[in-house]
Amino acid sequence: MKDLSTGTRPVNLILLGPPGAGKGTQAAMLQEAFGLVQLSTGDLLRGAVAAGTEAGLAAKAVMERGDLVSDDIVLAILQDRLADPDCANGVIFDGFPRTIAQADALGELLARTGRILDVVLELQVEDGALVKRILNRAKEAAAAGQPARADDNEDTLVQRLKAYNAQTAPLIDYYAARGTLTSIPAMGEITEIAGQLNAIVGGLTRA
Ligand code: AMP
Repeated sequence: MKDLSTGTRPVNLILLGPPGAGKGTQAAMLQEAFGLVQLSTGDLLRGAVAAGTEAGLAAKAVMERGDLVSDDIVLAILQDRLADPDCANGVIFDGFPRTIAQADALGELLARTGRILDVVLELQVEDGALVKRILNRAKEAAAAGQPARADDNEDTLVQRLKAYNAQTAPLIDYYAARGTLTSIPAMGEITEIAGQLNAIVGGLTRA
């Protein structure tokens, strides 16, 4: 449905890619540009860990190991957030889905709530660059006086990449088969990649 005040329509999209591909950075920029809600399951889980909720307690050690938190926990957390009124304007799924089961569950959830998945944007980055980017993120956090993420270290990153390749990468074919996948080479400058994403999402909001 079009928002008559702005002439745009809500867009729901997935940012897909390995850890360190720049999903969070690009999602934040898309949120700013189009008023979509960045919905990062990693952020929601870190919030639950910090708040010491039951879900957070169950997720903490799994996240510190670099493994995937169970679909049940992730889906419950996601479903709650998606029910908030601001999500009606369109959502950027960042770090979700990460398994085929999550993708199936998302499809059902969207259908049940009358939403459409407009596009899956895959950010393609070479493995070697990911390690550098993540270790850099940890250094930048330290320089800014912020605590580094418990999982932004070289050992955990190896496990996170393994989890991505084994459990999440199959989603590339999954969404390609459904005609919703657009792949973007994402080795370049942040602003250049953002420009490409803006053009795609801008086209969808006016569709
Ligand atoms: P991220 O911030 O997306 O890099 O996620 C950090 C960690 O949170 C991951 O390594 C997982 O342990 C957990 N996590 C985030 N999103 C999911 C998800 N959709 N399914 C399972 N685990 C997740």
